[in-house]
Amino acid sequence: MAKATTTIRQGLNYSPHHAAWFAATQTLFNQIAAFYFEVIQAHEGVLDLSNKEALTALETLTHATKENPTPVMPLSEVAEHVPAMFRRAAIHAALGSARSFFAHLKKWRARREKAQAKGKKFTERPAVPPRTWNKSTTLYAGQWKDRHAGSILLKVWTGTCWSWLKCRITGRGLPADIEMGSPSLVRHGNHWWLHTPIEKQFSGPPKIEKQVTTNVDTKICAVDLNLNEHLAVCTIQTVEGTCLSTRFIGGGQEIAGFRKKQFGRIARNRRKTGIIAEGEQDNVDRWRKIAHADESLSHLVSARIVQFAKEHGATILVFEHLGNLKPQKGKYSRRGNSKRAFWMKGRIFRYARYKAWNEGIITSRVSPRHTSRECARCHALVVRYEAGQSAEGYTAGDPLVLCPQCEMKGHADRNASLVIGQRLVARYQQSTQEKPPTPLAPERSAKAEGVLLSQEAESLIGPSIRSARHGENHEHGTAQETAGMDGCSVSDMPRQLRLFNE
Ligand SMILES: [Zn+2]
Repeated sequence: MAKATTTIRQGLNYSPHHAAWFAATQTLFNQIAAFYFEVIQAHEGVLDLSNKEALTALETLTHATKENPTPVMPLSEVAEHVPAMFRRAAIHAALGSARSFFAHLKKWRARREKAQAKGKKFTERPAVPPRTWNKSTTLYAGQWKDRHAGSILLKVWTGTCWSWLKCRITGRGLPADIEMGSPSLVRHGNHWWLHTPIEKQFSGPPKIEKQVTTNVDTKICAVDLNLNEHLAVCTIQTVEGTCLSTRFIGGGQEIAGFRKKQFGRIARNRRKTGIIAEGEQDNVDRWRKIAHADESLSHLVSARIVQFAKEHGATILVFEHLGNLKPQKGKYSRRGNSKRAFWMKGRIFRYARYKAWNEGIITSRVSPRHTSRECARCHALVVRYEAGQSAEGYTAGDPLVLCPQCEMKGHADRNASLVIGQRLVARYQQSTQEKPPTPLAPERSAKAEGVLLSQEAESLIGPSIRSARHGENHEHGTAQETAGMDGCSVSDMPRQLRLFNE
């Protein structure tokens, strides 16, 4: 069974003065979480324990009971009479932050050591513990009760005491047959919302290899993400390589223009105010505007990609790996803009991946090497040019392509999208029939299926795909009648070799 999680956001209706109670509850929650973060810093060993054991250890360190009358770092010095479930939610919040912080720090130390061992200069700054705490309050069972479609009772801190407060719930209700997580109290602007994580169980889609090699009706949605106007260019392809539909998702110029305007204003403000105080964020509102625009557009684009895939019955979504950010020269706004556009590509990918998964669509990535330079029809190198110019050479970013070999003419990003889809199919067909097995290192155990997996192969969902693929290969080795894309029979392949090597 596969799982999909999502969050149901519901508005809360309450009398205006109760907003202060929600705020007080959140402040207290963060005070306690910050306190536990300090406790963990003082007792780092706690992080080696499981969350459950760590919770017990942290409570022994901080919570006074009959058996444990004088804890080492009493919570009562920060807050008195905290309900146990409120305390535990705060402990888990602190544990989450602490685990992340110490993991980052550990990686940083390893990188520093590596650099020092090589005698290189190491200028990267270490991870810092959270300076401020602004987490939303998680309400464990006991902190809420009597939840109905239209109302809920919440236990909140008024600033002086704990009190049950009845709130009306507005908005989309919880769907049936789901597993509900602990809700949290979230502030959006001036209003308080109830966010409830829900989990849905469904039978997972078959592995990519199975879909690609055993079902000719499988449709793939290949996506080329760009930094220009067409943020995403999607094509629907069959495993046999026929392109059924294409969609261009635009909006790149508009967001770039918006960012440019904001960056220009930030630069102008900075010139006016002179030196920026260290450790202080300037132009907070403008940065927030940019971040918000990027975020909402990423959601929009990723949702459209998944919707397009769904409309056409595609069951696999494929992207290329992102590659590295190429630093841009030029003005402040230009550099900032290209950096953010690059980050947005990553975000669109991540959002599309989870949205696709919720629809039962698997996401994968292929090598980005020369996806734009290759002809989707004959795989020769293409000429890339602009309309009205002579078709020669290769200018990255130009909209049109021409293949000198097979005279294919078309849109450059659409061509790249086709190549991306073909690569995914080729990966599995190679691993099952074309490519002679990579020589195995003798010490490699039979379990090292990695050989069949090209380096860039990465299945993002479904950790068991490697072992599944191993099994598949043998199946195909025996399926004599299975013909490949190019018509050559599987039985032509030196399959026996692999068996000996293994
Ligand atoms: Zn060609």
